[in-house]
Amino acid sequence: MSRHGEDSLIIGRFQPLHKGHMDVIRKVASESRKTTIGIGSAQYSHTEQNPFTAGERYRMIAETLVEEGFTDFYVVPVEDINRYSLWVAQVVSICPHFTMVYSNNPYTRRLFAEAGYEVRDSPLYNREIYSGTEVRRRILEGEDWESLVPPAVARVIGEIDGVGRIRELVGEPVNGP
Ligand code: ATP
Ligand code: MG
Repeated sequence: MSRHGEDSLIIGRFQPLHKGHMDVIRKVASESRKTTIGIGSAQYSHTEQNPFTAGERYRMIAETLVEEGFTDFYVVPVEDINRYSLWVAQVVSICPHFTMVYSNNPYTRRLFAEAGYEVRDSPLYNREIYSGTEVRRRILEGEDWESLVPPAVARVIGEIDGVGRIRELVGEPVNGP
């Protein structure tokens, strides 16, 4: 689904990828030459807010995009460096070339704008139900979460027993293993 236009970056934690993200990705990809999906906070996993590893999130994103017929995309895990002034350089140093950044996160927007990138926000698609927080809450509470995510995401979560992981780890103190 290649188009003329900018090379774009969409960055998020994707814990997990849901249909709200896909609404943005579809729109951005249709307007972009290449679309890079940056997996933020890549080093975290096995916590309440960040249950899935970078590799698991990579699979969720890449398998969904392939199943939806996208070809012109990259997926790049990006670790936090906990130093905002250097974060844009960190992202640029490991991602393919991009000129346009799509995010609703105020820090991301500000930092990339200060570095001279064009930053666009993505309209929120039914945010009450399409959020990572809501997907994780439903998994925990045993409610229907599968309808909020693309089929490949539900499949990967099933394969890795993501439901069991979230239920077991929520409420546990965040200690080193
Ligand atoms: P969490 O609740 O865990 O923070 P999230 O749904 O906010 O998850 P993130 O990975 O934090 O997802 O966000 C990545 C990007 O996706 C952000 O720019 C965010 O604004 C955007 N986004 C999240 N939900 C939607 C949605 N429903 N529609 C459009 N964009 C969304
Ligand atoms: Mg968020």
